Amino acid sequence: MPSLTTFEDVAAAAKRLNGHANRTPVMTSRALNDDLGAHCFFKCENLQRMGAFKFRGAFNALSLLSDAQRKAGVITFSSGNHAQAVALAAKLLGVKATIVMPKDAPAAKMAATRGYGGNVVLYDRYKEDREQIARGLAEKGGLALIPPYDHHDVIAGQGTAAKELIEETGGLDALFVPLGGGGLLAGSALSAKALAPACAVYGVEPAAGDDGRRSFHSGAIVHIDPPRTIADGAQTQHLGNLTFPIIRRDVTDVITATDAELIAGMRFFAERMKLLVEPTGCLGFAGARQMCASLAGKRIGVILSGGNVDIDRLGALLQT
Ligand SMILES: *Cc1c(COP(=O)(O)O)cnc(C)c1O
Repeated sequence: MPSLTTFEDVAAAAKRLNGHANRTPVMTSRALNDDLGAHCFFKCENLQRMGAFKFRGAFNALSLLSDAQRKAGVITFSSGNHAQAVALAAKLLGVKATIVMPKDAPAAKMAATRGYGGNVVLYDRYKEDREQIARGLAEKGGLALIPPYDHHDVIAGQGTAAKELIEETGGLDALFVPLGGGGLLAGSALSAKALAPACAVYGVEPAAGDDGRRSFHSGAIVHIDPPRTIADGAQTQHLGNLTFPIIRRDVTDVITATDAELIAGMRFFAERMKLLVEPTGCLGFAGARQMCASLAGKRIGVILSGGNVDIDRLGALLQT
């Protein structure tokens, strides 16, 4: 059993991020609260630097590299937001970054990664193994590998969003968190257990790839083929060896949301809250909506995890 990330690690990450990450706003909608008969607090990580919470984990991890590691540079594999996060954190800290990205990643994410100075290496997500490619390049160039979720310093950084949320709102009855590989969910659960011990924590993943739900209920990490879903930030094939034990211990349940529910969420955020949220970023809200009947009168936290979506794609999705 590997040693697990703790809330103390999250608190230390928060200190490192201070002055570098945005303290993102917590927003509410009276109309929604009236509709749901509950109080919903949205932590707007779509307004984080580079457009997603992933800046938190990447900046924390890169801050902790040794001088020798900084000199050699870093490498990562990602479906998008982690790539941008590592590229931006590397730029801010003066480190060279190589990013292994699927060649069908959203154009905005690829362009942003290159815009931050990241060296992009493309692969075919349905045929090639991104981890293998990254590990090979890391070995050859002596680069530090910064994986998107299965890393102590990444988990600790991701937990700072829920920490800020709960510090601002006070006690919550339930917290809904988008789930891919589980860095955000594991970190959020650490913060919730420390700051709001009675709060139920739910992970919400795409219905097309319910490996997290099956893993949570079976007690062993389930591997699946790349799921076909519009939630491109959660097309992960399995939870991590470091994220899974925390999720098993501290999370209440893992539930799923369909692409149609995510589109309804994007429409709601754009129309009613004037917020641009990417499909994956709507997972938490979709989960909260499903469970709202049992949450009447309760205080509910929802993490809006990111806002990086091509505007033309957003338009096309809203037409479907
Ligand atoms: C990466 C990502 C997730 C999933 O995070 P994990 O730590 O892999 O579970 C959710 N939403 C967005 C916007 C992301 O970029």
